Amino acid sequence: MYDIIIIGGGASGMFVSNFLAEKGKKILILEKTKILGRKLSITGKGRCNLTNLNEKEEFLNHFHTDKEFLKTAFEKFFSQNTIDFFEKIGVKTVSERGKRVFLKSNNAKEIVFALKNLLKKNKVEIIYKANVKKFIKKENEIIAVKLENKKIFRAKYFVLATGGSSYPRTGSTGDGYKLAKALGHKIIPIRPSLVPFEIKEQRKMEVLNGLILKNVNLKIFVNDKKELEKFGEMQFYKWGISGAIVLNLSRKIVDFLKEKKKIKISIDLKPALSDEKLTNRLMREFKKFPNLSIEKILRKLMPQKLIKVCLQETKILFSKNVKIISNNEKIKIVKFLKNFSLEIIKDRGFSEAIITAGGVSTKEIYKKNLQSKILKNLFFTGEVIDVDADTGGYNLQWAFSSSYLVAEKLMRNF
Ligand SMILES: Cc1cc2nc3c(=O)[nH]c(=O)nc-3n(C[C@H](O)[C@H](O)[C@H](O)COP(=O)(O)OP(=O)(O)OC[C@H]3O[C@@H](n4cnc5c(N)ncnc54)[C@H](O)[C@@H]3O)c2cc1C
Repeated sequence: MYDIIIIGGGASGMFVSNFLAEKGKKILILEKTKILGRKLSITGKGRCNLTNLNEKEEFLNHFHTDKEFLKTAFEKFFSQNTIDFFEKIGVKTVSERGKRVFLKSNNAKEIVFALKNLLKKNKVEIIYKANVKKFIKKENEIIAVKLENKKIFRAKYFVLATGGSSYPRTGSTGDGYKLAKALGHKIIPIRPSLVPFEIKEQRKMEVLNGLILKNVNLKIFVNDKKELEKFGEMQFYKWGISGAIVLNLSRKIVDFLKEKKKIKISIDLKPALSDEKLTNRLMREFKKFPNLSIEKILRKLMPQKLIKVCLQETKILFSKNVKIISNNEKIKIVKFLKNFSLEIIKDRGFSEAIITAGGVSTKEIYKKNLQSKILKNLFFTGEVIDVDADTGGYNLQWAFSSSYLVAEKLMRNF
């Protein structure tokens, strides 16, 4: 008989366990895979973007679900608490562009080691390869969990920390949704979010593969109407596009694709210059270097991979001398720079999505302590709840804040 069983040893499962065990509670983590924190160890491209230093109001703007639901968690445990918690266990952090907080070591594994060491110090029991398949109920209380291998574990309280459906190879395969649904909880349909997209124009993608564009403006047209826009960095792959601005717009694009709408993107490669200013700039270059080829002049304006696509699209010969470039051709080049257009055909699915949109409905969870409104000894933390945010450290902060809220409530219960 345990005090509390935590189902899932990811970011939130490890975090909540440490808080509770510190207070002398008998804790058991049941983890499906053979290691803890597999997803945490690959966060932030291996550098772990732990949290974000934006003020609360701006912070909340980066979340896409019920903001009222999130407020208590962030009031009780926010970014500075996270930084202090990790500093205390020896994990140093640094803040970077966009107020994003990363590990000073640039090694996300450091945070997993630190949490694991703390679990050991706090004498938290962990069972690996423990695939929880079922809750055993008696009236409106859970009395035990049953594993795939039929073993049964009993406790007074249960915390569902099974994560979402994204990056299933890390262990988060959406089990939490099935477990919660079987208990009568409503699940908001899950969709991949913070996800890259495949592009129709395959030949262009093959040329652009590997290119990173900074400071571009990306517009999204849905059935020819502009719906979304973002400024920043994007990246090209042989199959399509990704990068911060694409990921942060992806949630809505996924929904548009589901509705079978036609999605075109338009990239403004020179957002600081109007069409007129860009034309003048081009003319100045042409005048200054009248004997150069168009390809050489364009090197001053865009990366080589884009020049190839630009000249193919505008049907201008690479070697054509700028002296004989027609007005019409100039207009076409400017148009390309201001409005490089492609079509999105598909998202890359849960296997490449950083987060899962949807999940256990917030309407059936008390926002003050994340307790189930259906079963009184069940609590939820992290991504399994219908909460998702932009990139920038917001999702991990939710994992930590939600864990703190649950730990605080459970500590009071004993
Ligand atoms: C590639 C990538 C990079 C990311 N980078 C960042 C970042 O830099 N900053 C940020 O804020 N967010 C980032 N995120 C998101 C962040 O990692 C998640 O939001 C966070 O890990 C969610 O924590 P969690 O505890 O809810 O779930 P998880 O960390 O996914 O943990 C869930 C755990 O539950 C276990 N489990 C699942 N089912 C069962 C079962 N039936 N029985 C027992 N155990 C089970 C899983 O094996 C897993 O260990 C990233 C995500 C990905 C995929």
